[in-house]
Amino acid sequence: MTADSYDVVVLGGGVAGCVLASRLSEDGGRSVCLVEAGPDHGPDPGGWPGGALDARALPREEMWERNVPVHRFRGRVIGGSSCVNGCWNTWGSAADHDEWERAGGSRWGFAAMEPYRAAAVRRMGLREVPDRELSPWSRAAVEAARELGHAEVDAGLPGAPGYGFPLLNAVDGRRWNAALAYLDADTRARANLTVLGNAVADRMVLRGGRVEGVVVRAGGVSRTLRAGLYVVAGGTFGSPALLMRSGIGPADPLREAGVSPAVDLPGVGANLSDQPGVFLPLVPTAELDAALAEKEREGELYVNRVLVRAASEYAAEGGWDLHILPSAGPPLFGSLPPGRYEAGVSAFLMKPVSRGRVRLRSADPEESPAIDPAFLSDPEGRDAAVLRSGLATARRFAESAALKGLAGLPEGTAAHELPEAELRARLGTYWHPVGTCAMGPAGDPSSVVDGEGRVHGVANLRVADASVLPTVPAANTQLPVLAAAEMLAAAMAAAPAS
Ligand SMILES: Cc1cc2nc3c(=O)[nH]c(=O)nc-3n(C[C@H](O)[C@H](O)[C@H](O)COP(=O)(O)OP(=O)(O)OC[C@H]3O[C@@H](n4cnc5c(N)ncnc54)[C@H](O)[C@@H]3O)c2cc1C
Repeated sequence: MTADSYDVVVLGGGVAGCVLASRLSEDGGRSVCLVEAGPDHGPDPGGWPGGALDARALPREEMWERNVPVHRFRGRVIGGSSCVNGCWNTWGSAADHDEWERAGGSRWGFAAMEPYRAAAVRRMGLREVPDRELSPWSRAAVEAARELGHAEVDAGLPGAPGYGFPLLNAVDGRRWNAALAYLDADTRARANLTVLGNAVADRMVLRGGRVEGVVVRAGGVSRTLRAGLYVVAGGTFGSPALLMRSGIGPADPLREAGVSPAVDLPGVGANLSDQPGVFLPLVPTAELDAALAEKEREGELYVNRVLVRAASEYAAEGGWDLHILPSAGPPLFGSLPPGRYEAGVSAFLMKPVSRGRVRLRSADPEESPAIDPAFLSDPEGRDAAVLRSGLATARRFAESAALKGLAGLPEGTAAHELPEAELRARLGTYWHPVGTCAMGPAGDPSSVVDGEGRVHGVANLRVADASVLPTVPAANTQLPVLAAAEMLAAAMAAAPAS
């Protein structure tokens, strides 16, 4: 091996990339290099910027882009979007596993994935919501859920609709991201593991149906890394962009972006699936403001700690297609005078049928791709109907005896009856994009990888991150991505260099 030659190169050091680099380097005979575009703050939390570790807010410093629509948010730092996210970990329904098994085989069923889910829970140190983190609003939201007939469920496992609490990757207010969990000091001390921060994977060089190197830019200098196996883990926006810059993707759009097509895979960048949502604002009472201010003084004010899995008439049998989130605290965006807070109930569409896409704008790795989430674009209008059903449920929460003493509906609000244009104008996202390098059989033109992440038509190339999930689970995606990366790393360790 030369200095720039490894057994495995992992491209992207986010949630999946940290798992892959950590697990694949457990075998001291396998050299692994992890390449991350953002900074590497190291294994000691003391070396991290305070904002990245504050679990009470969503940091926005270490992102790929500034001042862009919220659906483009993604972390650019070792640990990836686990450094900028809400620290919630939940699991989806049996229907999600049916969809994934159809695309990737039996390893994607719940029983087969469970050991990897459990391993991720352990390694991330996920823990239950401590009682002291429940604000008066969260406690009232639990009462409201009971009042409306929702049963309590374990939100970290598949199961039934109902209310529950997420598992948290946060301890005493500190966000414990995937890099701190998987690339700790012991792991980094391995002689066979190299972590390159501030290094952007520009493109892979293909020859004879194989990757023969990856061009990486760091500090204004380009160099080529070589490996037996190349694993792309740049996330749902970064992974298809890297494949496309390497000539792997839909041929005509690649030519338009100035890239010579090498492997015509129309599924690359297609099938983008994210979970849009709408916030139903309420007017907090002075009593709620005072109670939240007290919690904030104690340093324990969390906007949200309770979720409700709800089913519209379109949900799969026994499953759910909505998350309802009652929240109260400092606004996510903007600010309010001290002692004043925002309250409301959000409805998120968990199983959208609309599909968007990611396309290159140019071959420059620093130019972010065009990202069209195509929210509510399905011709039958099913996604809009499910979201309206969610807003009707959100309104029932707002009108419950438990919550209406703390915050009231503004005059004239009937959010589930909003005109189409206003509904669309109010759309936000839960930030769970997947699907742009979807797994599926080689003969299916929309599929990009097989069930173990092997890219169709390229011998020594895999993708292993959120982008391979063909459908978004009825869950927050971090834990499913951690579990998938654990599972795919084990498959790679069992079948090296292919
Ligand atoms: C604002 C926000 C809030 C969220 N909240 C939650 C939550 O509370 N709970 C939850 O379950 N999920 C949440 N998510 C989603 C969750 O974080 C993602 O599902 C998860 O991070 C996906 O993991 P990944 O490895 O696919 O991508 P990422 O974690 O995004 O990692 C991709 C990594 O690849 C790097 N990269 C990309 N391109 C290149 C390149 N060319 N060269 C080198 N490096 C590259 C990036 O810099 C990044 O570090 C949130 C996401 C966001 C953005």
